Amino acid sequence: MPGAERLLRAQVGMEMWARWAHKVLWHDYLPGWALHKSHHVPRVGPFEANDVYAVVNAIPAMALCLYGFVTPTLLGGVAFGAGLGITLFGIMYMFIHDGLVHRRFPVRLQGQAGSKALI
Ligand SMILES: [Zn+2]
Ligand SMILES: [Zn+2]
Repeated sequence: MPGAERLLRAQVGMEMWARWAHKVLWHDYLPGWALHKSHHVPRVGPFEANDVYAVVNAIPAMALCLYGFVTPTLLGGVAFGAGLGITLFGIMYMFIHDGLVHRRFPVRLQGQAGSKALI
């Protein structure tokens, strides 16, 4: 499987994981909702409690990258690729969802009036 196809499949898998986590872990599960509800109310200041999930998701990504970086085997390569894929998804999510959809960054798409469909 070519690298670009593998990367695309990994991003689709991460999107499916994110959709499942959003519904089951953040909305249906009470402790998850306690942090996530801050994402559904007007934000006061630059951060919201929901941002903790970005840090929590970064921990396994960094661990996988670190393990892969110091382990020159096939398993190490797979771990590094998985960690890199999680990281790339997180970066894209941050820029598209938080940055463009929720306008948490002072940038927007040219002619952007609103993208509620992506929320
Ligand atoms: Zn939600
Ligand atoms: Zn959102």
